[in-house]
Amino acid sequence: MEFHVITLFPEMFTALQSGLIGRAQTSGTIIVHAYNLREHGLGPYRQVDDAPYGGGSGMVMRPEPLGAAIDTVMAQNPALLRILMSPQGEMLNQTIVRELAQNALGLLLIAGRYEGIDDRVLSMVDREISIGDYVLSGGELPAMVVIEAVARLLPGVLGNPESLAEESFGPSGMLEYPHFTRPEEFRGMRVPPVLVSGDHSRIQGWRQAEALKRTLLRRPHLFSTHGKKLK
Ligand code: SAH
Repeated sequence: MEFHVITLFPEMFTALQSGLIGRAQTSGTIIVHAYNLREHGLGPYRQVDDAPYGGGSGMVMRPEPLGAAIDTVMAQNPALLRILMSPQGEMLNQTIVRELAQNALGLLLIAGRYEGIDDRVLSMVDREISIGDYVLSGGELPAMVVIEAVARLLPGVLGNPESLAEESFGPSGMLEYPHFTRPEEFRGMRVPPVLVSGDHSRIQGWRQAEALKRTLLRRPHLFSTHGKKLK
């Protein structure tokens, strides 16, 4: 899958060269292209921002450089789903991530800066996505969050695809059960005995119960969003 990004800071995307996502890029399972919006800037200073109409503080990203950058990328890749990163967009969750991984032929992610972008650019995108109700100074980290979350669902990216079946917000709609590894005792705390019992059906039952308990305590809303009934 291809991820194209329009940004003023393309060098930030080298952060995606580590770990699983880095390997997925090396193997060609995913391709990440970051385009410098500055190349479409206006005038000798390649200006991309201007003062807001109506006054007020800060600068706003002008629509023409963004429009030209979007047109240029889309002319080469007409099937991309265009997503604007915005704190005002729909809030990202695993359901949206799955949808993007399954349906999109590729994504064009647009990262804003300053006070945000001229509102008329919204007419040029398919979706606006937020990574949470807080404000960052740019859309680069949010775009990387989308790339990482989507890429790890693509075939061939995770070393062990079975882990997708049980992880939080996966098919069960619940949080995952707690994990333990060696040593068996750490600072007076022992691993739950069932996990060292070797009894796989008891382990399975314990994990299901723990997942349920955690979800109830920490994310009770997952029960309603996934249509589960509390008894
Ligand atoms: N003035 C705007 C915030 C602009 S933040 C407001 O109050 O709504 C500048 C840029 O950072 C945005 O254009 C967007 O691309 C990015 N950004 C900031 N927070 C974000 C978030 N929570 N999710 C996605 N993108 C975000």
